[in-house]
Amino acid sequence: MTGPIRLYDTMRREKRDFEPENPERITMYVCGPTVYGRAHIGNARPAVVFDTLARLIRHHYGADSLLYARNVTDVDDKIIASAEAEGVDPSVITARFEKYYLEDMAALGVAPPTIAPHATAEIPAMVAMIGALIAKGNAYAAEGHVLFDVGSDTDYGSFSRRDREAMIAGARVEVAPYKRDPADFVLWKPSEPGVIGWDSPWGRGRPGWHIECSAMIREHLGETIDIHGGGLDLIFPHHENEIAQSRCAHDGKPLARHWVHNGFVDMGAEKMSKSLGNVVTVDGLLAEGHRGEVLRLALLSAHYRSPLPWTQQRIGEAQQKFDFLERRFGNAFESLAEVKKAMSEFYEPDEEAVAGLNDDLNVGRYFAAVRRLADQAENASTRESRADAGRMLRATANLVGIELGHSFLATVAGTADTILIDVRIAARAEAKARRDFAEADRIRDELAVEGVVLEDGLGGTTWRRA
Ligand SMILES: [Zn+2]
Repeated sequence: MTGPIRLYDTMRREKRDFEPENPERITMYVCGPTVYGRAHIGNARPAVVFDTLARLIRHHYGADSLLYARNVTDVDDKIIASAEAEGVDPSVITARFEKYYLEDMAALGVAPPTIAPHATAEIPAMVAMIGALIAKGNAYAAEGHVLFDVGSDTDYGSFSRRDREAMIAGARVEVAPYKRDPADFVLWKPSEPGVIGWDSPWGRGRPGWHIECSAMIREHLGETIDIHGGGLDLIFPHHENEIAQSRCAHDGKPLARHWVHNGFVDMGAEKMSKSLGNVVTVDGLLAEGHRGEVLRLALLSAHYRSPLPWTQQRIGEAQQKFDFLERRFGNAFESLAEVKKAMSEFYEPDEEAVAGLNDDLNVGRYFAAVRRLADQAENASTRESRADAGRMLRATANLVGIELGHSFLATVAGTADTILIDVRIAARAEAKARRDFAEADRIRDELAVEGVVLEDGLGGTTWRRA
């Protein structure tokens, strides 16, 4: 193993060694999508960042070491509004957009998490946790709602380091008559007749968003997990509230040993969100012809905690980088057969590149090492050392979810294919010139079997695919 992984911990506001409680069962939870619209590129950033971190953890601790949970929020006011607008059941909306989300993320090379708990399937766990919070004096029921009593938790606000006024303003809380304190947040709220809801000790209703994560973490991973992740915008109120609920429900045990947050994708001055107009969706970018690997490289082109300005120039640079890496990988070998063989072999990634990622996913250091490997793949003095560098380049790119070789093979094989057709058309023309019509017909039929149709004209023979 090449040194420990170091990660910036939002709780302590410092970079420190990642030390899992049990290296054979590492637990990571990342707040997942609310499924009511297409994923924009800002939604894709946490998926790619935490997929990359998951790959690094598995590289260090073993393929089966990590239990990675990413939830699906499939009950929410925006989902209910979309369902009402279309006149369908909310499950129609959530099934559609979850499918799209998984397709879009797969195109970016994001592997599915180990577990994807759905809120609607976890209501009993949420009801149990809410009941426990009431029993411990941290929550109260009022007018069909259950509220978390922030005054009962002296540590409330310590994670986001906000004072009371900033918290109330930041949470955009409603002052409601049933609240003891404006900062108290909803654990359970009533559902009107005809709106999705579940029976509970406090009447028919549905859970608040924050309790969903706390209950699912406890249910699937445990009371204290190794890593909790999400976007910077979730620090307050979402993660502050998750921390308060879980800590109070579990007698003061911390929710997570390490808190990791990614920065925003900037489309300009405004933070991207579905409520703004300037949204660039992942499927829209793919439809424009950008490869998933290129979009992933673009998302990884800045440090994960930094803002990522999303520009055409950034996509263009990622395209150049991808083409460059593909070329250097493919050209490291003497034949297509060797390229294909290298794509099926296991190889260790470059240690300096791994060390770069270990350093709080320092992509600058990582890509510098990748660049050095790419140069070795082209310039090393012997055929064998070029092939070695090529294999290591592929393994190192794999570490951040970039799969080299497919694009190279498609390009080169496509070219070789075209050349071969032209060669045979020339052979047929020669056969006709020497009046060997049997041979000319044989070549034409052979090409027809491959789906290539020849068209003889005054200017010579052209071809098209059948
Ligand atoms: Zn969450």
